[in-house]
Amino acid sequence: MRIGRVQVLGFMFGMFVCSILLAFLRHGADPDSAHPRLKVVYLVLSDVTPQAEFSEGARRSMVAAQRWYFDELKSGVTFALADPVVEPVRTRHPEGWYSLAGRGRDREALWRTAMEEAFAMTGGAYYDSRYIWVCFLDADLPEIPPQGGGGVALLLRQDILNQVGLQPSCLTMGAIAHELGHAFGLPHPPDCDSHKKSDGEPECASISYLGSYHFPYARFQPEEREQLLRNPAFIQIEPEAARVECSR
Ligand SMILES: [Zn+2]
Repeated sequence: MRIGRVQVLGFMFGMFVCSILLAFLRHGADPDSAHPRLKVVYLVLSDVTPQAEFSEGARRSMVAAQRWYFDELKSGVTFALADPVVEPVRTRHPEGWYSLAGRGRDREALWRTAMEEAFAMTGGAYYDSRYIWVCFLDADLPEIPPQGGGGVALLLRQDILNQVGLQPSCLTMGAIAHELGHAFGLPHPPDCDSHKKSDGEPECASISYLGSYHFPYARFQPEEREQLLRNPAFIQIEPEAARVECSR
């Protein structure tokens, strides 16, 4: 039997529909790919001794951040945590290599270098459908601030040290909440960044701006909360911690 062109096209179209249906079913069956969970990567440099207590400290911080977002969004939702939450990873380079990459204060260069290494060691990516990545690079670069965006946050040694102990410092918790906001897609309030509005206005007191220095008391603005609620990471779950705790 000769197969006509129309039949071939019909068969190809059928295969196409089937593959879409299969992809949809797979996606639906795997909650991880629909709702990324929070995962911490502890980047231990090749010549640095890891902080033995950091993994437990960071887990406590993420549990506190999970609770804070739950309380803040007031919609019965927050992000889920990966299991285990913290993954320590030994990097291929010593501390001096990262200092050179950051040239002391080049935040963008350090971001590119650190994220390239973190993704190479973990298989992670920007806008990863499985995880929101919170990376801690154990390098002493005091002039480079924490950063976030594209489903990823990056913090450095001072914030690592601030989580070793009984409770995380509120300053570091503020930095984590703020950078997570960037990871979830929030920018700084534009009028605050451009100084059209003064620092005293409510917009600029948001956790997305100066409020990050007043954790846990600062809030998001209503439109920021709405934007967060559209992010697939936020799901109906009960937070692990009963309350947010941090020390001043
Ligand atoms: Zn920021």
